[in-house]
Order: sequence, then C-alpha cells, then structure tokens
Amino acid sequence: MYALVTGGSRGIGRAIALRLARMGYNVVINYQSNKEAAEDTLHMLRELGVEAEALRFDVSNREETVAALQTWQQEHEGEYIEVLVNNAGIRRDNLLVWMEPEDFDRVLQTNLMSFYNVTRPLLIPMIVHKYGRIVNVASLSGQKGLPGQCNYSAAKGGLIAATKALAQEVGKKNITVNAVAPGFVRTDMVEGLDEAALKKQIPLNRFGEADEIAALVAFLASKDAGYITGECIAINGGLYS
Ligand code: NAP
Repeated sequence: MYALVTGGSRGIGRAIALRLARMGYNVVINYQSNKEAAEDTLHMLRELGVEAEALRFDVSNREETVAALQTWQQEHEGEYIEVLVNNAGIRRDNLLVWMEPEDFDRVLQTNLMSFYNVTRPLLIPMIVHKYGRIVNVASLSGQKGLPGQCNYSAAKGGLIAATKALAQEVGKKNITVNAVAPGFVRTDMVEGLDEAALKKQIPLNRFGEADEIAALVAFLASKDAGYITGECIAINGGLYS
C-alpha cells in the first residue's frame, strides 16, 4: 500500500507523511529543493517500519512531474499509489497593485496547476483498482479570500472547486476526493507573520500545529471516511466558518 504526499519533506506534509506511515502505508514524499529536510523525513518514516522514498520534482512543471511518476510506476510493477495528498504549496503575498506577474503565475502554477499535473497520472491506476483517496490541502484563504493573497486565494479557491468537480467524476469508482482548509499553522510558511497579534483574532487563541492538520488528512485518507467526498473541511481554530 503506497501513499504520495507532495511537499512531504517539511511542515504539514511531513506530519501527514508520518501519520500515513502509522496507518501502515509505504510513503513516497515529494520535495522540490530541500534535500536535507527530505532525508530527515525519510529517516523518521523508516523508523516507523515502513518503506519510504523521496521523489524530487517540481509539481508546477508538468513534464518533470509526469516523468517522475511514470518512472515510479515502472519501478513498482503491480503496485499503485492509492492515497494522494496534494500538499505542496507556496505563498508570494502582496497587494494586487504591487504584485508582479511572476508572483501571480508562480503561485497559481505551484498551488493549482500542480493538482492537474500530479493527480491525472495517478488517477487511472486508482480507477483500475476501484479504490483511491485524494486529499487536497487548500486554505482558509481559498474559502474567505485574504487581502494580500489574490494569487494564493485564487489558487486555493480553484483547488476547492476542482475537488468538488473531481469527486463527482470518480465517486462511482470508489475514489473519494476531499480538501482541507487550514487557517494559520506553525510551519516555515508563516515565518515572519505576527503570531501574537494574529492569534487574538482566533477563537482558540493560537496557531494550529502541523500534526493537527495531519490528523484530519489521515482521517480523510482512511477507510473510515469512505462516505465523505467532495467536501472542504475548515480547520482554523474557529477563525472562519
Ligand atoms: P512549508 O513548511 O513551506 O513546506 C512546503 C513544502 O512544499 C516543502 O516540502 C516544499 O519542498 C514543498 N514545495 C514547495 N514548492 C514545491 C514545488 N514546486 N514542487 C514540489 N514541492 C514543493 O509549507 P506548509 O506550511 O507545510 O504548507 C503545506 C501546505 O499547506 C501548502 O499547500 C500550504 O499552502 C498549505 N497551508 C499552509 C498554512 C500554514 O499556515 N502553514 C495554512 C493554510 C494552508 P522543499 O522542502 O524542497 O522546499
């Protein structure tokens, strides 16, 4: 049993990878450039007694992504990735008037086009085996829209809509497709944000932990969540509902 977590080398993705390993999955983590973090995660996964491998590819690059996934498939004849977590993401915040075109494009490519690049090659094996779990890591920003994040809100909002659409396409094949929408979570991504000021707006009065997001993703990836599909579940400490 294999699971793939994009951006599984650090932060929320690493926590998800560890949760899936504890569920008994052999875990494939993807990363872009931080090899050291990827190797640390592989070590943690192997300590849990599962097979773990890292695939370096840029999820925003279609050719690179498809080639990496095809190679994996060729090297694992008879196996398939039954759990896919589309987690890799970046932010490049600015008010729209100041936002450079490359920052708009990069965020759309990494957070939204990646959904197409990664999911499509893995879908046919899930259909053939009549089982699959796809979980997309969206954001509060994609539900509410946040100032300074027109690019990121558009990408995550698009990801939520794609989640709902794909769920309706593949439900009959016993494949569920869901999204989670975290609020502020303590990872490298929120470095530089004023946590003390922001947490005052959060009813639970704190940022979330990566493992709290991972627990929800792991549930959606489990057999117990078999009757949930096309959902986007908010996990934001009460910030927005
Ligand atoms: P993070 O700590 O910055 O980690 C990002 C991960 O994504 C890393 O593993 C990174 O790989 C990988 N990555 C980035 N660009 C990539 C690319 N083009 N191709 C392949 N891998 C790529 O971020 P995080 O906070 O864990 O965020 C994970 C997800 O949660 C993202 O989709 C983010 O938008 C979402 N999210 C986060 C928060 C939050 O507050 N943290 C809130 C809502 C949603 P390298 O290590 O190689 O760089």
